[in-house]
Amino acid sequence: MKKELIGLSFEELQRELVALGEKPFRAKQLWHWLYNKGETDFYKMTTLAKTFQARLDELYTAQHPKIVTEQTSKDGTRKWLMEFQDEKQVECVYIPESDRGAVCLSTQVGCAQGCKFCHTGTQRMMRNLTAGEIVGQFMSARDSYGEWPTPTDETRMLSNIVVMGMGEPLCNFENLKTALKILMNGDGIGISKRRITVSTSGVANHIPELADLGVKLAVSLHAPTNELRNQIMPVNKKFPLEVLIEACKEYQRRSERRQFITMEYVLLKDVNDSIDHAEKLMKLVDGLEVKFNLIPFHYWEGAPFEPSSMNQMHRFAKVLESNWFASPIRRSRGEDIMAACGQLKSAKGKK
Ligand code: SAH
Ligand code: SF4
Repeated sequence: MKKELIGLSFEELQRELVALGEKPFRAKQLWHWLYNKGETDFYKMTTLAKTFQARLDELYTAQHPKIVTEQTSKDGTRKWLMEFQDEKQVECVYIPESDRGAVCLSTQVGCAQGCKFCHTGTQRMMRNLTAGEIVGQFMSARDSYGEWPTPTDETRMLSNIVVMGMGEPLCNFENLKTALKILMNGDGIGISKRRITVSTSGVANHIPELADLGVKLAVSLHAPTNELRNQIMPVNKKFPLEVLIEACKEYQRRSERRQFITMEYVLLKDVNDSIDHAEKLMKLVDGLEVKFNLIPFHYWEGAPFEPSSMNQMHRFAKVLESNWFASPIRRSRGEDIMAACGQLKSAKGKK
């Protein structure tokens, strides 16, 4: 099988080419073709010598994940089922806003965390995605919108990245890190670190390292006490709330700039949505700079929860807001195509 070039760090690419007897500056040229122009055919990389093109074609591939299906919601949200070389599949979503938009990337096929409210969590963990497969999702999304070469002005549609798709990103940390560095590289895809958010269920040991990468942090909190969190998020048994909150504090200490953390909170009817829960929640985050993101529960067939009523969500938000916490209720996007948070599931995993 040919070796995959997408996903090698710049240094790795350089070493690879030097081993072939090429000059190091060739890596810069090739990088530009791969990540600025999105070119997948070595023979179309016209600034490279013909012999070099042939050599690359013989040894390597630069394909982006195959788009198996594409659905566009009536609100503009687009969802793709993407397939990798071994035929494993994940879903990837684009969520447009008025003047920008975020691509939601997956990091694993399935997820081992087993959160009770999450559709992905019902699916067996199959494997981690490689760095190339994480970056590749973004590249296929760009293919779908024809947004190559990398726009130089800030008119781009695919302007932000949220790592909130299938899988727990911090359980695939090395590959995530390599992928983010490639996505941020200014000679290629060029997404600024300020426009990247990584969401974790609370795998606390890697949280402070996200500060070193400079990306934003979102934490799927979903419960104010260990007792309740243990019931709905098994990860809490390994990293209980006091450990998680301490990791968040360390993240903020280590961040270069003042960096708010987004606390995600999915409202489950009669489970975690009372006024008492809201009050406990505020005490829990005391000493942290946070914003809340209240998420309506997205139902999927067989789910053991129901969404809270609109009224209850507003009552809950009010308690937080009266204490100066920004706590918007997230607008659901792409629900008609099952593209909303927690609804992603690969077709093959269903079997
Ligand atoms: N594994 C990471 C990122 C993916 S999940 C994490 O858990 O943070 C993205 C967000 O959707 C998380 O906040 C998750 O808790 C939330 N979510 C999962 N299932 C949901 C559902 N059915 N309805 C609404 N939000 C859900
Ligand atoms: Fe995995 Fe996140 Fe779903 Fe939990 S919410 S099962 S961590 S994808």
